[in-house]
Amino acid sequence: MVVSATIPEAMSVLFLRHPANETPVSAPQQHSSTSSETIIGRSEEWLLCRHCEAKITSSQQRIVVQDSHLHTQCNPGGYLFHFGCFEIATGCRLAAPVSREFSWFAGYSWQIALCNQCQNHLGWHFSKADPAHAFYGLILSQLATEAS
Ligand SMILES: [Zn+2]
Repeated sequence: MVVSATIPEAMSVLFLRHPANETPVSAPQQHSSTSSETIIGRSEEWLLCRHCEAKITSSQQRIVVQDSHLHTQCNPGGYLFHFGCFEIATGCRLAAPVSREFSWFAGYSWQIALCNQCQNHLGWHFSKADPAHAFYGLILSQLATEAS
């Protein structure tokens, strides 16, 4: 097993949507896990802009970058951001010039990613010269699920 208690819940669900081997041996009153599955367990669920509810990306676009889907980083202004990595975010548009300064991912340039509909700042697009290595880092507090 590669899954350990130190892996964030979101990641363990990402890799083990149906953890068949995790059945507790001595716990017949197994807790329902609907609370986590309603957010990320479904095969695909849209993630919306929290401000205007435009469709930004979906749960299927979650990817792992540098060993984690979830990242917490501080920008030079001292603001802390908790964001997830997504391969594609069709609801975003990129603004401002591409920058290499203070990039949180070595070798990547970044651009600010805005909601295509309301221009709310949703995160950043990180890219290398090779377009196969591009991804979005989207601030989780700026996203909502369809059900919420
Ligand atoms: Zn929006």
